[in-house]
Amino acid sequence: NETLRLEGIAKAYNAGTPAEIVVLQSVDLALAPGELCALVAPSGAGKSTLLHIAGLLDSPDRGRVIVGGDDLTDASDRQRTRVRRQRVGFVYQFHHLLPEFTAAENVILPQLADGVSDREARARALDLLGRVGLSHRADHRPAEMSGGEQQRAAFCRALANAPDLLLADEPTGNLDPGTSDTVFEALVSLVRERGMAALIATHNLDLAARMDRQVRLEGGQLV
Ligand code: ADP
Ligand code: ADP
Repeated sequence: NETLRLEGIAKAYNAGTPAEIVVLQSVDLALAPGELCALVAPSGAGKSTLLHIAGLLDSPDRGRVIVGGDDLTDASDRQRTRVRRQRVGFVYQFHHLLPEFTAAENVILPQLADGVSDREARARALDLLGRVGLSHRADHRPAEMSGGEQQRAAFCRALANAPDLLLADEPTGNLDPGTSDTVFEALVSLVRERGMAALIATHNLDLAARMDRQVRLEGGQLV
């Protein structure tokens, strides 16, 4: 009943050319439901590559990617896209909210794409926004919100389809330290409340220490 299992993941860019970069050598990782794991690594170590492979956005050269017990290593693009939409939520350093839509609409849209009714999607969006203290921003566009508010709205969007797995790449990396703490707390409490597994890349060792587990990416392996 693991949410995510990575086995022997290897990945190089520009393989077979003089510009070859081996990013991942042999990465093994298993995440149980409800487990929050920090991924700590210097910049350039391959965090984004690993998160993209775990989230089925990119394929490894070797190794297996197993999500919720299903081995998706050799799955079709269509199947990978379906699993990604239904079971995986992504959060990035920059929020990537759609600027022409309000906070609520940004949380509603992925649900409509997933077949949820308008009414249900709006109810879920308002509930999520309320949980991160953004009820008063539901009808505001990103440009009218602070950086921390935008990032909290992006968390709600990532969780809108009730995924089992959250993958986050420096989710508070562009916020000032004070804001970063409260925004990070909002993310952790949402994830814990829903019993999701999460792999959260961060440079911030204080934040990493609050997770259930920490793994460090070093020389293409997790230690
Ligand atoms: P991190 O997220 O830890 O900063 P990345 O996974 O983004 O690391 O990148 C790891 C290494 O792979 C870096 O040296 C980066 O320059 C290189 N890299 C990432 N993506 C590509 C790509 N599409 N083509 C070539 N090199 C890449
Ligand atoms: P949709 O078409 O509904 O946006 P996708 O399957 O394209 O669904 O994307 C699912 C998730 O993957 C979204 O959270 C999206 O932000 C993320 N995503 C899609 N493509 C990329 C990419 N090239 N790099 C990073 N994240 C991506």
